[in-house]
Amino acid sequence: MAKGKVAMMRAALVGLHRTGAGRLLAPFTQGQGLIFTLHRVTPDTGVPRGFAPNRILEVSPDFLGAVLDQVIEAGLDVITLDEAADRLTHGEAGRFACFTFDDGYRDNRDHALPLFQARQLPFTLYIPTAYPSGQGELWWLALEQAIAAAAREVEIDRDGSPWQLPTVTDADKTRTYETIYWWLRELPEHRMRATVRSLAVRYDIDLGQQCRNLIMTWDEIRDIAADPLVTIGAHTKDHFALAKLPVDEAVAQMLDSADMLEAELGSRPAHFAYPYGDAGSAGARDFALAEGAGFRTAVTTRKGMLFPAHKEHLTALPRVSLNGEFQNLSYTALYLTGAPFAIWNGFQQVDAG
Ligand SMILES: [Zn+2]
Repeated sequence: MAKGKVAMMRAALVGLHRTGAGRLLAPFTQGQGLIFTLHRVTPDTGVPRGFAPNRILEVSPDFLGAVLDQVIEAGLDVITLDEAADRLTHGEAGRFACFTFDDGYRDNRDHALPLFQARQLPFTLYIPTAYPSGQGELWWLALEQAIAAAAREVEIDRDGSPWQLPTVTDADKTRTYETIYWWLRELPEHRMRATVRSLAVRYDIDLGQQCRNLIMTWDEIRDIAADPLVTIGAHTKDHFALAKLPVDEAVAQMLDSADMLEAELGSRPAHFAYPYGDAGSAGARDFALAEGAGFRTAVTTRKGMLFPAHKEHLTALPRVSLNGEFQNLSYTALYLTGAPFAIWNGFQQVDAG
């Protein structure tokens, strides 16, 4: 999320909280449930980090534990995606929440799993299958590392010519990160990765090693998947934005990841998450492809609650991100009302276009 958007969302949340409007809107906006998106779970070291563009992807174990308790206290059932799909399909009563973690970070095992085990609650991990093999590219972290290490400016290849951006202060670094990040997100996927690979070479970043350091191995995934609380879902092979790929490549990314998970874990995943998951990364074509590929549910990162009408759109489900910049229980209390997302979506319940 760009900085301006973070500020806007925060202002909206504070307004809804102070006025009590969130609670008033809840009967109309809370829907039947929600699916939380998480990435990393890392203990807060207490060291302030001036340049930390990926902090949005990290929440602390303390915060996550408090959210689990808050959700239970609010009367929601924490259930698996299969149960969620059942409830939507059959119109069963009872509000619910699902917890999902993208990308297979090892800290999910170290810091999230114990919280769910202690409360006997289920959750889902979405794995991009090249990553546990050590062949994934955590390019958003590589870019952060390159900029963090550059004392004066960072240089990246733009259409065959060098592009230099300032990195003197933390503010420079943050601006430079945002500029390059969003420029990269617009490029065709293969060209984008080639650009990142040459950046990694220039700044001596070992993409494979970074992946092995942060992402669970297949043995570790097999271990965690043996816990009946854990569901493993697919997240493509290479973590490409599907909407930017030709149809055959998009289908191959889905099927290859399901095949690989089945080969490694012994059962075929029924659930899928679109990489990035925003409207530019997954659209109506991809929702149909996921259904065709045999997934029972597929999740985006479009913001929203689940409503009965979602039973017709099980491969275009919205989620609610537990964002590292918003680790505050009064915000998550508002999320449960659905009001911020209803406002964000202009009170439209289903967005599957
Ligand atoms: Zn992802």
